[in-house]
Amino acid sequence: MEIGANWACWLLLGVVAEAGPVRVWPAKPFNGAPLLVEVESAAQPQARFLDRPLSFALDPKTKRWTALAGIPLDTKPGRYPLSISTGGEPLKQDVVVQARAYRESIVTVAPRYLEPPEEENVRIEAERELKKTVFAVRSERRWALPFLPPTASIQTSPFGVRRTYNGKTQSIHQGLDFRAAVGTPIRAVAAGKVVIARPMYFEGGLVAIDHGEGLFTLYMHLSEFVAKEGDLVTAGQVIAKSGSTGRSAAPHLHLGVQWQNTYLEPATLLGLGRVPVAAPARKRKGVK
Ligand SMILES: [Zn+2]
Repeated sequence: MEIGANWACWLLLGVVAEAGPVRVWPAKPFNGAPLLVEVESAAQPQARFLDRPLSFALDPKTKRWTALAGIPLDTKPGRYPLSISTGGEPLKQDVVVQARAYRESIVTVAPRYLEPPEEENVRIEAERELKKTVFAVRSERRWALPFLPPTASIQTSPFGVRRTYNGKTQSIHQGLDFRAAVGTPIRAVAAGKVVIARPMYFEGGLVAIDHGEGLFTLYMHLSEFVAKEGDLVTAGQVIAKSGSTGRSAAPHLHLGVQWQNTYLEPATLLGLGRVPVAAPARKRKGVK
């Protein structure tokens, strides 16, 4: 896919308000959103946003520097400065964060996933330590645009939903669910290294992939592993089969996106850098 052509498209549609040396996707950032920051500069840019460092790499096709950033879910709406240093005068662009209204839902799961039996405590603690260690690693960038969907099936439960489990336990949905019958092939959304591929207490069958720069994707409730820990996988490669293991009410895939220890909205990540669909424009023509 030609990224250059994408830019022309975005500009034509007025999606990118300012065509300066700094561009930020999505056009209307919100709490929970991943961001793609692109910078035109001769020197490698350096920046921090919302207390986290950005890692810029030069896109060989567009000759622009790209970095991921993220807006944690608990960020209040407002204007947040993004200051990028490239050696000379810093490039400044405000990111206006809008409040996204997240739905509420009620979920019923086996009680042992809300109040685990005591004999599971050692296992749960060991798994918490494993995740902490794995997600603290910062490796070289392996991700590239565009991100690919893990399965072609429909999305059932979005990120950020406030869930009430079994009528009492409150929790926020930290990922995106896809409908998937048991045994559906699940694909890596980007290239990376498999850092976890094993059964876990809460996540059930879990695959976690390190895409570099603190970006990890997590695939949960799996019934079968295809990739194993240590494998290098390509974007779109089948890594596992879906299931309903762990804290799950029905067969589905839960996709989590973690960036520098905060969970971000997967649907926006999957759309970063893509040409906006032309369908709405055609529809409008047909309506009049
Ligand atoms: Zn989920």
